Amino acid sequence: MIVRFTTLGTGTISLSAGRSCAGYLVETDDLRLLIDCGSGITRRLAERGDDWQTITHVALTHFHIDHYGDLPTLIFAWKHGFLPARSAPITIIGPVGTAALLDRLAAAHGAWLTAPGFPLTIQEITPSDTLELPHGVRMTCHAVPHTPESVAYSLERSGRRIVYTGDTGPSDALATWAQGCDLLVCECSLPASMAIPEHLTPEQCGELAAGATPGHLALTHFYPPVEHVDILALVGARYAGPVTLATDGWHFDLEDE
Ligand SMILES: [Zn+2]
Ligand SMILES: [Zn+2]
Repeated sequence: MIVRFTTLGTGTISLSAGRSCAGYLVETDDLRLLIDCGSGITRRLAERGDDWQTITHVALTHFHIDHYGDLPTLIFAWKHGFLPARSAPITIIGPVGTAALLDRLAAAHGAWLTAPGFPLTIQEITPSDTLELPHGVRMTCHAVPHTPESVAYSLERSGRRIVYTGDTGPSDALATWAQGCDLLVCECSLPASMAIPEHLTPEQCGELAAGATPGHLALTHFYPPVEHVDILALVGARYAGPVTLATDGWHFDLEDE
């Protein structure tokens, strides 16, 4: 196994008993990347044991609070929740505006948020950037139609590739960019009766997957009303590959070729 991708939080800001807000863990050797950190993700990490202590990187897809609300709590836990004190560095990755967001959070909560006593680096990424993470993991992003800053992320290692859409509306360019990935983690927010340009319906997830032809499609970011329609049937009518309706704690392992 070369990369494990875990869906820690498969819900949204429409609060759910069974689904935390957005959060995903990517593990490969000692690279431990948390993508998004919405409300409930610190609890989900705690349920797994010491995982919250060993995270090395955090990446944000956009600045809606269901994708970063637990980040101040997590940084405070890293600052005060260790004995002895944490010294390991943290890198926080995000679209342009991430540093300004953290500055605003520091203004509200305290200077510790960006100067927690261990090295904290903020690295903004644009779609023209490639970030080389430890262990040969290559990270890129792609702008998606949700908010002006919103991006999808791609993570590649040893010829294997994961794409996580973040929050997005329909985008042919996203399907092209994700083409042929091994795992496509795709938001599936709303039923067609409630469709809006900033999110995907199951039908639109099926169309995106038909264009991207991933090895496996995992759907996430479910508003409660979408769970009242037959998501698998609606996706399956448009895309014949394997599909998982992710739950909090589901994981997918990318194996060596
Ligand atoms: Zn969201
Ligand atoms: Zn959003």
